[in-house]
Amino acid sequence: MNNKGEQLYTGKAKSIYATDKPDEVIMEFRDDATAFNAEKHAVIQLKGRINQAINTHIMAALAHANIKTHFIKSLSATESLVKLLEMIPLECVVRNIAAGSLCRRLGIEEGREFDSPVFEFFLKSDSLGDPMINESHILTFGWATPEAIATVKKLSLQINTIIKPLFREANLLLVDFKLEFGYIDGEIVLGDEITPDGCRLWDAETKEKFDKDRFRFDLGDVTEGYREVAQRLNLTW
Ligand code: UDP
Repeated sequence: MNNKGEQLYTGKAKSIYATDKPDEVIMEFRDDATAFNAEKHAVIQLKGRINQAINTHIMAALAHANIKTHFIKSLSATESLVKLLEMIPLECVVRNIAAGSLCRRLGIEEGREFDSPVFEFFLKSDSLGDPMINESHILTFGWATPEAIATVKKLSLQINTIIKPLFREANLLLVDFKLEFGYIDGEIVLGDEITPDGCRLWDAETKEKFDKDRFRFDLGDVTEGYREVAQRLNLTW
């Protein structure tokens, strides 16, 4: 039994609930969307269900490739059972194509493809607006150990090599994405989610955007974009 207990945490698009087991929690995908540090909010019909389907698919593909994640199993259309992790307060971003904050920060034109992926760290802090940081900051302020830094970088790039072709087969370009990691029994595993809320996904030919940028910049029906990703991956929700 995985009885849904008290709500332990509620974030911008997901909520976490206790279960009967202290080391397992329920992760619920909601229809809420926020952007620009929660200045913009909306309810996007079906987003929770579609994200649950996409995340379940990606986590299964990673498990198949021997990448350890917190994911245990899907419980319902919007809920997954996951292992409780002690989260590392970092956002690991992998970029294959220039977009978003990289373009704003460095003046690189959107759409430029990189010969090899760019890796960036951001501090997970809503109050500070998730600032970009480097390894020196992480070590100085004790946000992660040198070993953890090396592990999350290596895992992030490995995950990119697994999921980039998975999306490419669905005629989608994986432009960039954000990962979060945590500890379980002293080992670092992937936590959080891999969905269009935290990935940029473009049509391989037209470069049409199917991810959260539709919501951020009012580029069209958001549910339609997410639905397109799930459909191309042959998922139901
Ligand atoms: N991202 C995320 N959560 C954040 C910040 C970024 O999931 O708090 C994702 C974002 O969706 C994109 C990638 O990380 O796929 C890189 O985001 P970027 O640094 O370009 O920031 P943005 O332009 O979204 O502010």
